[in-house]
Amino acid sequence: MSGFPTAPGAEASAQRALADAEPRVFWTSQPGRPPIREPLTEIDRVCDLAIVGAGFTGLWAAIQAKEDNPSLDVVVLDMARVGDGASGRNGGFVSPSLTHGLAQGMAMWPDEMGLIEEMAAANFAGWQATLERYGIDADFHLPGELTLSLTEHQDESVRDAYRMHCDKGDAVELLSREEAYARVHSPMYRCGILDRSVGLVDPARLSYGLAAAAESLGVTIHEYSRVTGFDDGGGGAGAVVVRTQQGSLLAQRVVVGTGAWPVLTRTRPFVIPVYDHVLMTEPLTPAQLGQIGWEGREGLADAGNQFHYYRRTLDDRILFGGYDANYHFPGRIDPTLEQSESHDLLARHFFSIFPQLDGLRFTHRWAGVIDTTSRFTPMFGTALRGKLAYAVGYTGLGVGSTRWGARVALDLVQGNDTERSSLAMVRRKPKPFPPEPVRGIGVRITRASLAREDETGRRNLWLRALDRVGIGFDS
Ligand SMILES: Cc1cc2nc3c(=O)[nH]c(=O)nc-3n(C[C@H](O)[C@H](O)[C@H](O)COP(=O)(O)OP(=O)(O)OC[C@H]3O[C@@H](n4cnc5c(N)ncnc54)[C@H](O)[C@@H]3O)c2cc1C
Repeated sequence: MSGFPTAPGAEASAQRALADAEPRVFWTSQPGRPPIREPLTEIDRVCDLAIVGAGFTGLWAAIQAKEDNPSLDVVVLDMARVGDGASGRNGGFVSPSLTHGLAQGMAMWPDEMGLIEEMAAANFAGWQATLERYGIDADFHLPGELTLSLTEHQDESVRDAYRMHCDKGDAVELLSREEAYARVHSPMYRCGILDRSVGLVDPARLSYGLAAAAESLGVTIHEYSRVTGFDDGGGGAGAVVVRTQQGSLLAQRVVVGTGAWPVLTRTRPFVIPVYDHVLMTEPLTPAQLGQIGWEGREGLADAGNQFHYYRRTLDDRILFGGYDANYHFPGRIDPTLEQSESHDLLARHFFSIFPQLDGLRFTHRWAGVIDTTSRFTPMFGTALRGKLAYAVGYTGLGVGSTRWGARVALDLVQGNDTERSSLAMVRRKPKPFPPEPVRGIGVRITRASLAREDETGRRNLWLRALDRVGIGFDS
């Protein structure tokens, strides 16, 4: 199911390059990981706010809740470790967008996009200011993102994106083949668009830094503390009982930010777990770097439905991920699914884009689960008579927007009517995915149709029907 034009020779380069790649996440296996935090073993530990999930959503919720009200007693629980979920294993692209890109926002909420974009800019500024305030050293830099066309059909999407950004007054640049090549030397690039608003970060160091910032404010974080259920605590003003395998909390309020893991039954129809795969190369030598240019260190992506994202690291490796978006019936999440043939496919594509890097080796191969919704933006809501709020479903673009998502969850759980909580993207749920087995079959047909569109440039009947009912599939 690959519409990607693989170059001759890429197969052999890929096989050699993958021979010694370790099956683990590069970011979280680097030195500097904090020691393990103790699990929750206390029974009925009383707190004001319990947060489930120590990914970006949970950590941003903890920090913002304490900044709002330093006297709150806030406890964060994670079933694994800080950064073990999507937050510590992603590409590290930091986009200001809250709507999975401008085109998606314009398609879904054209009337509210002005306000949403204002909120996006304020969120991005607040995101950066927080890193500065707490001295979080996560290699954040702002080189911009270059989206490249690799095929004739993608030329048009690049130009459409350019026009849409220009209409909105965004400072974007359209690059010709020569201009794109001058920045990054790939024989495949046909044209591109440079969006200078996008940054890059080391996601694991960001996770550790946010956790340390939360702790500096007095938040308690328990790792290896899987939440197994909630009880309304008898209703009324009673506390919510948050049960873990070994302990429990009695919390006045609860925020759930568990990404692709369906902790609440009510989010299951709306959020599906989709595996996204990543490779990391060894550091490039100065000679290899000279062969590809890329001195601006931009984040790169290509413009297909099935797209790659890639970037340089501080020590001059290349992270290369994306393309396949694998759903495993009936929504399985299992570490054994993290190693797959998608890595071989990615490696072939890598050497098609950069044939001159033949001989370069991959050191790490991993995958992460993306919490996908049919509209590519998170869903929000409350449960337990408003005492619990959730923010899940960022669909592969949450590094920046989780701060805003956490803010929305806090608005909801505190019962605050704000500009944020009154947005349609907050009040309304995405279209649900159908139940299994139709869901799995539907995802397969959709992926095949998207791959076909990448090959032909034509949207088939199936995709057009989904467009009409407002269901999409992305990562
Ligand atoms: C491979 C990959 C690449 C990506 N690249 C990018 C990118 O470049 N840019 C971008 O913006 N976004 C990217 N994303 C998406 C981004 O990583 C996510 O949107 C973001 O990290 C979501 O944060 P979160 O806190 O909501 O979820 P997560 O980080 O997944 O955190 C959820 C946490 O909940 C915990 N949890 C689950 N169940 C329980 C339970 N029962 N009890 C206690 N804890 C529980 C998990 O252990 C986990 O730590 C990527 C995602 C992946 C997987």
